[in-house]
Amino acid sequence: MKFMIKMLAAQQLLSSLAVVLILSFPLSAAGQTQDLSRPAPWLQSLDQLPEVLRQNEAIRLDLQALAVGYGAAIQKVVGQGPQRFSLVMANGRIILYDDGRLKGPEEKLDRPDLEDMLAQPYRPGPLTQPPQANEDPGRIRVEAFFQAVYGATPAEVQAHLVPVPFLGTTVRFQGNNGAAAALGRVGVRLSQLLAQKPTLRGYILPLQGTYNHRRIAGSERLSAHAWGIAIDLHRGTYWRWGRLLAPMELLALQAASPQEIVQAFEAEGFIWGGKWYHYDTMHFEYRPELLAKARLAARAAAPARDR
Ligand SMILES: [Zn+2]
Repeated sequence: MKFMIKMLAAQQLLSSLAVVLILSFPLSAAGQTQDLSRPAPWLQSLDQLPEVLRQNEAIRLDLQALAVGYGAAIQKVVGQGPQRFSLVMANGRIILYDDGRLKGPEEKLDRPDLEDMLAQPYRPGPLTQPPQANEDPGRIRVEAFFQAVYGATPAEVQAHLVPVPFLGTTVRFQGNNGAAAALGRVGVRLSQLLAQKPTLRGYILPLQGTYNHRRIAGSERLSAHAWGIAIDLHRGTYWRWGRLLAPMELLALQAASPQEIVQAFEAEGFIWGGKWYHYDTMHFEYRPELLAKARLAARAAAPARDR
C-alpha cells in the first residue's frame, strides 16, 4: 500500500512536471519556431534524484532548458550521492552536471561542467547593458556533451552534415538535433529581410564558413565549427584581431551590427558572438538551450497574470 502511494505520488510529480514543461513553452511565443513541443521523457528520471537536487530551482531551469534544446539526445539523469548527478546521453556517455569546484574564467573555459556552461544568461534582443568582463554566454562548452550530440570524431561529425540552402548558396551544417533545419529557417527569415532591405546582403554574403574541424585560436578547445553548429557571416570583427573593448565600445559595436539579422538567428535558437565580452561579431552558433533558458527565466520573473 505504502509502495502504491509512493508510486502515485511519483506519477503526480511526473505529470505536474510535464504540465509545467508544456505550459512553459507556448508555440506562439514571441515569433519563436524552436520546436518547443518536443517531448523529453527523460525528465521523468528526475524523480530518482534526492529531494534537495530535485527542488533546486536553478537545476530545474537548466534541465528544462536542456530538455528543450536537446530532448532526444539525452537518455536520463542519474544521481551520484546526495549532491551530484549526471546526464546519461542517448549514446551512453555520462556527463556530470556540477563538479562542485570553484573556478576562475580560464578554468571554466578549459574544464567546464554543464552548470558552468549554462550559468551565464544569454540575453536575446538588442542589449541595453554591455557585457561585463568575461561575460561570454555560450562560449563555455562541455566538449563531451557536444561530442555526444553531434559526433565524437571528425568522421562522425561529417557523417551527420547535410546540405542546407541558404540565400542562394548551399552550406553544410549539422543534421542532428535540428541544427540544420533551424539554419534553413534562418535562411528563409533572412531572405524575407533582404527583400525589404537589400543593402544588408553585404553583411551576410559571401559566408565565411560553417563546418571546420579546428581548435579555437590560442587554445586547445574545439571550436563550435568543429561540430558543424556554427556559421560565420561575411562582415564582422573578432577580439583577437584587435583588442578587448571598454563597455561603451562594446555597446557601439553591437549597435553597429544590423539587429534584424541577429534577431533572425536568435528566433531559431542561435546565439550571437557579438554579445560576448570576447566579441566575435560574424559568429552565430546553434545553442537552443540558452535561448530556451532565457525565455524560461523571463517567464518565471513575469507577474503571474502575464503567464
Ligand atoms: Zn565562427
